[in-house]
Amino acid sequence: LREQVVQSEKLQLISQLAAAVSHEVRNPLTASRGFMQLLLTEGIDTESRNRFLNISISELDRAESIIRDYLTFAKPETEQLVSLYVPDEVKRMIDVITPLANMHNVHITSDVAACCIKGSPQLFTQGLLNISKNAIEAMPHGGSLILAAEQKEGTVFISLSDTGIGMMPEQVKRLGEPYYSTKGAKGTGLGMMVTYRIVEAMGGSIQVDSEPGKGTRFLIELPAHFPDQPRQVQYT
Ligand code: ADP
Ligand code: MG
Repeated sequence: LREQVVQSEKLQLISQLAAAVSHEVRNPLTASRGFMQLLLTEGIDTESRNRFLNISISELDRAESIIRDYLTFAKPETEQLVSLYVPDEVKRMIDVITPLANMHNVHITSDVAACCIKGSPQLFTQGLLNISKNAIEAMPHGGSLILAAEQKEGTVFISLSDTGIGMMPEQVKRLGEPYYSTKGAKGTGLGMMVTYRIVEAMGGSIQVDSEPGKGTRFLIELPAHFPDQPRQVQYT
């Protein structure tokens, strides 16, 4: 029974994240609507019109980034804790991030051992995606994103390393704090908070090593899962 209670608490994370999104996107949507309403003003001059349109567009973009940081993979109907085959999940995340990597001249390599963890596929891939997106954004002039996973006894270690701008120790300390962002209007400051919550809910932890000008490595530790049956395809 205890096991069941713990499971249902973990599952609530998707609903909580969905509730948080609807709260977070309300402000940019309201702002965008307000500026569109102003566009209806009669005799509005071209300069104001363009200004209002640009604000509307950037507020809509902001709403979109917030949804992305929370719910890229969300599919509530399949919300369940299953055995996740790490190489498949990593590959699925790489497929989603590759267009962004190409735009930034970032080369992705991966070396992922055959291992399993237990969790929700949506949440786990979202957690990896938010780290990878930051890694790519930290390499404006290109670089490498290296993904690796290995299992040592009962623990799976997943590392994501970039050759980007890196962080000062004070910045590393603030990771996961809501709204902490150094990206101005382009950032939400929500991506790492989401990732930390997901990894915690899976019973894992995250370590960060970073050096300004050199790069950053995120190391995620998660309990390994030993499925009763050999590997099964969990989704299509
Ligand atoms: P956002 O990406 O919207 O700014 P996040 O919560 O995803 O918000 O990240 C918070 C901050 O952490 C970023 O603004 C950035 O300063 C820092 N950060 C996260 N990952 C990296 C990284 N790989 N390299 C450098 N800085 C990073
Ligand atoms: Mg981010």
